[in-house]
Amino acid sequence: MVPPFSLRNPLSTSTLKATISASVAVSKLPFHGQTFKKLLHLKSKKDCNNITMSNDTSPKPAPSLGIPKSINTCRLSIINTTCDITVPPYYLVEPAVRGYDWINLPTFAFHITNDKSGRELLFDLGTRKDWQNSVPHIAGLVDGHVHGLRVKKDVLDILPEGNVDINNVEALVLSHWHFDHCGDPSALPKSVKLVVGPKFRETFLPGYPSRQDSPFHEADFTGRDVVEVPFSDDFKIGQFQAYDYFGDGSLFILNVPGHAVGHISSLVRTTEDTFVLLGGDVCHFTGVIRPTTYVPIPDYIPDETALDKRIPRPCPCSAFLSSHQDPGNGRTVRTRHYRARRLVSIFSLIHSLSYFHQSFHD
Ligand SMILES: [Zn+2]
Repeated sequence: MVPPFSLRNPLSTSTLKATISASVAVSKLPFHGQTFKKLLHLKSKKDCNNITMSNDTSPKPAPSLGIPKSINTCRLSIINTTCDITVPPYYLVEPAVRGYDWINLPTFAFHITNDKSGRELLFDLGTRKDWQNSVPHIAGLVDGHVHGLRVKKDVLDILPEGNVDINNVEALVLSHWHFDHCGDPSALPKSVKLVVGPKFRETFLPGYPSRQDSPFHEADFTGRDVVEVPFSDDFKIGQFQAYDYFGDGSLFILNVPGHAVGHISSLVRTTEDTFVLLGGDVCHFTGVIRPTTYVPIPDYIPDETALDKRIPRPCPCSAFLSSHQDPGNGRTVRTRHYRARRLVSIFSLIHSLSYFHQSFHD
């Protein structure tokens, strides 16, 4: 039996340690080994403050997203799926930055409970522990192209540790079909529906082997409702078609095409006026989307922010500009650390199968 940890171009021990330790604390930041040290440990507060900062840091008013008002909310729990993936940055982002040799990709899933009705959902499943048992062409691509991959547990093994009974979960909302999100749907009770995006059914069902190019096994769908979200232009949030899943304004599923066929996100209302966006793969790396002109980088990271303990406090945000190509303008969207890379890498290899129909969003 192939062990569940595969490290194809073996990295150094320190690199591996950094991969593991950084995975839970901070999602998708360039925290790899020496790079982390260079970025933060070797920058004193004085050094950081000497970096030229832009004066353009007052937030601009953000346009209305058109989110309907509601007092109904959901309880949201994040699940560390215990899947750690390590890839070179050029798989996902550009330009190359000297010293940033690896990106760590921790993988999260979510448990959602409607506060009023108690109805429960899962959002994504991460990577299945026995990824070698994926359909052959997916297992082959992962084996041949993912540099570091370790999965300790399946989400179904983690749920009882959080007192979640999978038999009470009515549906898995699947952001998209990629191996690091879809887990092993066949292991779910048949009562758990799959809620998926447009064109999912016509593209993937009935599954492998009847459909040779499907990334799913037939067993994933047999005896299970596979429901495409009925989006329409009649209801949008921002520029995206939206669907009020519970019908009470507590959870909106968004039609966010581009990354993969049927890619969807979820906007969860956690209080009357706060939300968490479960993006799926709308972005692989935070450096691609932050900061914005609506939320510029502040002078210091707020004290209440949960940070890796190696980061000095107070942490001047200028530390994060020390490797920026244009630190003077790095606090606004005009100059991001990275842009999404188009049509490269294992992810692109997987994406480039017949059903990958569009390139990444910027
Ligand atoms: Zn993906």
